[in-house]
Amino acid sequence: MKIDIVTIFRKMVEGPLAEGIVGRAIERGLLDVRVHDLRDYTTDRHRVVDDVPFGGGPGMVLKPEPIFRAVAGISAARGVPSAVILTSPDGARFTQAEAGRFAAMDHILVLCGRYEGVDERVRTHLATDAVSIGDYVVSGGELPALVIVDAVARLVPGVVGDEQSVARDSFSRGLLDYPQYTRPLEYRGLGVPAVLLSGHHREIERWRRREALARTLERRPDLLAGLSLDPDDTALLDELRVRPERRESE
Ligand code: SAH
Repeated sequence: MKIDIVTIFRKMVEGPLAEGIVGRAIERGLLDVRVHDLRDYTTDRHRVVDDVPFGGGPGMVLKPEPIFRAVAGISAARGVPSAVILTSPDGARFTQAEAGRFAAMDHILVLCGRYEGVDERVRTHLATDAVSIGDYVVSGGELPALVIVDAVARLVPGVVGDEQSVARDSFSRGLLDYPQYTRPLEYRGLGVPAVLLSGHHREIERWRRREALARTLERRPDLLAGLSLDPDDTALLDELRVRPERRESE
């Protein structure tokens, strides 16, 4: 999968991408990620990427020309991306489902805003998608781009070693993940649920499924609303709604 990122702070993006799962996927050639300096697409001596807002007001706005030129230049060199994603607090909220949609594409391009934002013509006539990582404002599109690229990369086949672990991740099945424990068996007097030591795989599976349902019911009931559960899960959920206390004691 090809991923292009356009930013005025390349280093802010390149460091994190070199580490961990994403870094390894790039090394192994599963991801072809390029980070582009927006200033390389300016035509003036001072490499200016911003200007004052029409109508007045504080701050600066990223100019359209370098961004349009960047997308054209990258498209010519690397092929036309399936999505041109503008990072923006007023974009569509980024979700696991959206990550999956982008992961199915063979080439995406992410634009990082800065200052007061980006000239609206980029949004209306260049971007295919505007994406927000949540209802808060950060200083630039670099961190949002990293969030998007990381979440998308995890869903590209082969990037996460054990594919099952992606399928099990929170949100993948529409539920939060079940709780995890590791050694030591007892820490500061705190134990580990006995079922996990039992060696009964069916029992462990059932416990995990119920814990995932219970957590989701407790912490994110909104996630359950849109879910089509199988009869076993529906039964477990009904049980949890009636007798939530059973969970802790087992
Ligand atoms: N004045 C703008 C905020 C600009 S922040 C507003 O109130 O909406 C500067 C840049 O940071 C934005 O152009 C965008 O690229 C990025 N950014 C900030 N918060 C973001 C968020 N929650 N999701 C995605 N991008 C964000």
